[in-house]
Amino acid sequence: MLEINNLSVFYGGIQALYALSLSVEKGDIVSVIGANGAGKSTLLRSIAGDQKYVGQIRFEGEQIPSESYCVVHKGISLVPEGRRIFPGLTVLENLRAGAYSRSDKDGIMRDMEEVFTIFPRLKERIKQLGGSLSGGEQQMLAIGRALLASPKLLLLDEPTLGLAPIIINELFDKIIEINQKKGITVIMVEQNAYAALELAKKAYVLATGQIVMSGTGAELLEKGDIIESYLGSKAEER
Ligand code: ATP
Repeated sequence: MLEINNLSVFYGGIQALYALSLSVEKGDIVSVIGANGAGKSTLLRSIAGDQKYVGQIRFEGEQIPSESYCVVHKGISLVPEGRRIFPGLTVLENLRAGAYSRSDKDGIMRDMEEVFTIFPRLKERIKQLGGSLSGGEQQMLAIGRALLASPKLLLLDEPTLGLAPIIINELFDKIIEINQKKGITVIMVEQNAYAALELAKKAYVLATGQIVMSGTGAELLEKGDIIESYLGSKAEER
């Protein structure tokens, strides 16, 4: 579904990604783990067309041009780090904003109902302002909004950041549900390394802009000590 070859990103004189290559199969959950500053967000932004890059990113055989800013039409949705919901809009308005690129009213209604089935708490809070929701609910809203774009590939940038352990577990279960029930391929960037590996069909470890390890989630879980050395501190247990 996604093929990345020799991806490099520069911020002025700073190189954030170094000739990185990876691939994602349709239907998989792929986790990318790594320490702060490893380049995880830069990688997701490049796939989402929000980033100037050199190299090749191909989605369903088609090149995603550097800084193309139109991948939502192609079926790619990014949930950015820090959620970035619209705090002054209601839950319903936030969700509707996710469907801005669509005109199929029936499809939008159906996806809205599916989001409420996955996240019943959003339905309970439908008229509440986004900014008044808890951190976990805001993350659910950000994911719900991304689902309203009807993506084939969902990019999640640190979805569990700053959330309580019980909410983290709930959120990971929802990500599995989205992947299995809706068949959406997921690339998830996480610092919560062990939980992210448990979920992943395939996983990559990123360190200073390069892929330093890859394998199935289970294979990487067996190499916990090496992974911890790349993460720079003991990874959190789920
Ligand atoms: P974090 O977990 O802290 O978000 P990350 O793995 O997502 O980290 P990135 O945010 O992709 O890492 O950053 C990779 C590198 O690029 C870092 O060294 C960072 O300082 C640098 N960087 C990111 N954005 C910019 C920018 N807009 N201008 C200059 N340097 C940047």
